[in-house]
Amino acid sequence: MLPIKKILKDPILIETLLRTKDPSVSLEELINQYHAYTEHLSTFEKLKEKLNEMRSLTIKNAEEFSERLKELCAECGIALVYTPYVKNTNVNGATRWLTPKKALIQLSLRYTYADCFWFTFFHEIGHLIKHGRKDVYVDFSNGHDNSELEKEADQFAQKTLIPSNASFEMFKQSLTPENLKIKILYFSKENNIDTGIVAGRLAKETGKWSLVAHFRKQLCLREYKD
Ligand SMILES: [Zn+2]
Repeated sequence: MLPIKKILKDPILIETLLRTKDPSVSLEELINQYHAYTEHLSTFEKLKEKLNEMRSLTIKNAEEFSERLKELCAECGIALVYTPYVKNTNVNGATRWLTPKKALIQLSLRYTYADCFWFTFFHEIGHLIKHGRKDVYVDFSNGHDNSELEKEADQFAQKTLIPSNASFEMFKQSLTPENLKIKILYFSKENNIDTGIVAGRLAKETGKWSLVAHFRKQLCLREYKD
């Protein structure tokens, strides 16, 4: 298969590819599809460029990162909004495309643990990067939706936060009650990530939340004021 950048530089090839899919599609429609696709891709490309910087904010406290995260999102055409929790809804976050170029991510202030916040944030980014633009994605804290889309968004969040499953496995296998603290601190530093995120994933995989509870920090995010 040809690299996507090469395909995009060749409108005739695009037309051929699209026509092969559906010969009845008009040229005007093909052009519209092409423009929508390139705009879509450019949002993705911007997002991919910013992902590392977004991830690097996990080690900062809420006052330091909350506005910067919004700015980074805005540079990619994403409006990021921190919304007050609506009682009994169990909603952690929601994502939707507002136009072909602009998307909205709403993060609920229900769980203000840093690891929950960042996992939900990158889960929503995963929906934007990996999934269609017609659906509205609403994510609940009880995680009852086991659809493929939700699993993919979870995997995206997990891999963005801790890219190497192999190194996390090695880290996990090396833990003892005596070295737990130093190992979590070291692994977090080595991966340039908040200790709470490492602790949160460890607890999620082992079920031993109490063992790592003190590594998880709570965020003091300002409520949505508009
Ligand atoms: Zn989701």
